[in-house]
This record gives sequence, C-alpha cells and structure tokens, in this order.
Amino acid sequence: MPALERRLDSIRSRLEASYPCRVSEPRTRRPLLLVALDILSVLIFGLTLAWLVSRLAGVPSPEAWPFMLGAALAGIALADFGTGLIHWAGDTFGSEGTPLLGPAVIAPFREHHRDPFDIVRHGFLEVTGNNALLMSPLLFVMAGFAPQLGASPFAAAAIAGGLAFVATAVISNQLHRWAHMARVPRLVAWLQRHHVILSRVEHSRHHRGAHDRGYCVANGWMNPLLDRLAASGERPRAHRA
Ligand SMILES: [Zn+2]
Ligand SMILES: [Zn+2]
Repeated sequence: MPALERRLDSIRSRLEASYPCRVSEPRTRRPLLLVALDILSVLIFGLTLAWLVSRLAGVPSPEAWPFMLGAALAGIALADFGTGLIHWAGDTFGSEGTPLLGPAVIAPFREHHRDPFDIVRHGFLEVTGNNALLMSPLLFVMAGFAPQLGASPFAAAAIAGGLAFVATAVISNQLHRWAHMARVPRLVAWLQRHHVILSRVEHSRHHRGAHDRGYCVANGWMNPLLDRLAASGERPRAHRA
C-alpha cells in the first residue's frame, strides 16, 4: 500500500475512534461554477475590507485601547454565539426536506453528524465562501459610516468590535474544520490548546451522544451559556437524522 494511502487510513481510523461516525468515500470534484462563486465571494469580501481600511481615519487615543480590546473580545464571543445558535437551530428544527433551508442549511449539519470526516475534505475556499458573502454587506455598511478611529474611544471600540465579529464569523467554518482534523499546523494546535479557537476536545462534546451540546464552532467560549439555553428548549432531532 502506498505511503499516502497508509497515512490517510491511519488518519481516518483516528477520527473514527474519537468521533463516532460513518466515514464516506472521497467526494467527486466540485463543479467549476461553485468554485468560481466561492472565489468571487472571498474576493468581494477582501475588496470591501480593503475599502473599509482605506477609509479608517485618525489614530486611537491611549484611553481607547482598553475599550477596543473589550469590544473585540465581545465581537468574537458574539460571533461564536451566532455560530452556535444557527447550528442549534439546524440540528433542532425541520429536516433535510424542508423547502429552501433544508438542503442549504439543515442538510450540511446532519451530514456533518453522520460523517464528521466530510468537512475535512472541503477546502478553505469552499467552507469560507458563503460566510464571506454574507458578511460583506456588514463590512460595506461599516465602511459607509466613514469610521473615524480618532474621534472617540467609543467610535474606535465600535470598529474593533465590528471587525472582530466579522472576521470570526467569516473563518468560523475553517475553525470548525480544524477541530475535525487529526493534524493541524503547529500555530493552529497552539491556539486550540489555549482555547483561542475551537479545540478538538471541546468540539468532540458535540459529536458524542445526542448532538445536544457544544454547538458553538468558532472557539466554544459561549458553549456554557448556549448549552444551558439549549437544555431548556427544544430537543435536537439531529441525532435521529
Ligand atoms: Zn450538530
Ligand atoms: Zn463538527
């Protein structure tokens, strides 16, 4: 058996051992049109971000920095909570046959339970494209307000918080993907170990049992809160899918 195949087999076995799952066969090549749409989405996001940065004016005053740090942390936490809320809704309501939302939102969550290895096979552009497109209008609105970093600590904090929220939301699927991978770059592993981004251990809570906890996929900071809220609400149907 060639070395690469042996390596893939070993990675699959390790994944199956830690996440109960059915590992499907590798997917066929993605249609070129969808690949082009992903590239276009990331490009639109990048250009809008560049426009926003070009419109930033002034330098934050020293007293603005604590506000900016607090707002950035709040933005990251809010994005993490958002990923958890959408994930919880996708696992709890409707089915893969639900019109519009079924194939677009619910099916990927259910498939991700049946085959946790599937997300690993999606490339960075594929897992990031949709989020980049969704977040671009928000960046556009922020840029439209002609942000004045030096105007006041609150203006600077609003920009820092908004950017942290958008950045975390855009890369959240990639953060989730890394939590499914047996091997990640060293820096990513360090960030996971220090709970800056979603760790494999934290996320495995979702994949064990009934998929009724650990919904947040950016860094899991908001899981304790969402776990409590989810426990008092609808029972997830995802595990029955
Ligand atoms: Zn789930
Ligand atoms: Zn997962």
